Amino acid sequence: MPFLLAAGVSAAIATVAWILRALSVRGALAALAVGTLILWPTGWPGCAVLGTFFVGSTLVSRIAARAAGPSDQADTQTRDERQVFANGGLAAFGATAEWIAPGLGFWLATVALAASGADTWATAFGSLSPRPPRDILTRRPVPAGTSGGVTWFGSSGGFMGAASVGLVAVTMGGPGPLLLAAAFIGQAAMLFDSVLGSAWQAGFHCARCDLPTERRIHRCGARTTLTRGRAWLDNDGVNALAGGAALVLGIVSWWLA
Ligand SMILES: [Zn+2]
Repeated sequence: MPFLLAAGVSAAIATVAWILRALSVRGALAALAVGTLILWPTGWPGCAVLGTFFVGSTLVSRIAARAAGPSDQADTQTRDERQVFANGGLAAFGATAEWIAPGLGFWLATVALAASGADTWATAFGSLSPRPPRDILTRRPVPAGTSGGVTWFGSSGGFMGAASVGLVAVTMGGPGPLLLAAAFIGQAAMLFDSVLGSAWQAGFHCARCDLPTERRIHRCGARTTLTRGRAWLDNDGVNALAGGAALVLGIVSWWLA
């Protein structure tokens, strides 16, 4: 797709997302950059895959947040630039491989977005789980929203999120094995995400609201205190690391396929 068309389509989508409050202003600018970098090398198929990830993730997050009632989920309703880069930055980086080997960029963007989709869908579905999550490493029950906590609801949702991205990629002309790669790598990245979340991800506590949170500054505006993990590794950082693992697995699977 010509560069100007890629930038124009991305600008239009980012503007709509900003109007719908799915993105902050800086989030929309980040989405313009990420979208252009994905659409320019991978064209309309890449646009469809990115759109599937973004619309699907936004919808399931909103529906789940509404169903679950007021909670810390409200933190993630409007995505900022950090979340956009954590969710789509590696897909954009992977997409540029299209210029090295035709097909590789589309393959990598798809598996990276499948990994991001698995993560957001798992979070949304997990928040609706009738049972409290269990820590993936210790198997002990943990409060809902705790990083590293997993539920069958969440894991099934994550699988659907990754598979939906892979399905659209194959429908748009991607090779058949890409569906398998997207579903499998999405699942693997989600697992890796949970293990990192359990072992190292920072957890904070807001004294004013007496609520656990993943944020250094709570949504109420108060500064929070570190209760677990490493202060420098937040949820977006864990997502980016899981996305990096997905990209490596993506290169291996493309080579095998
Ligand atoms: Zn607070």
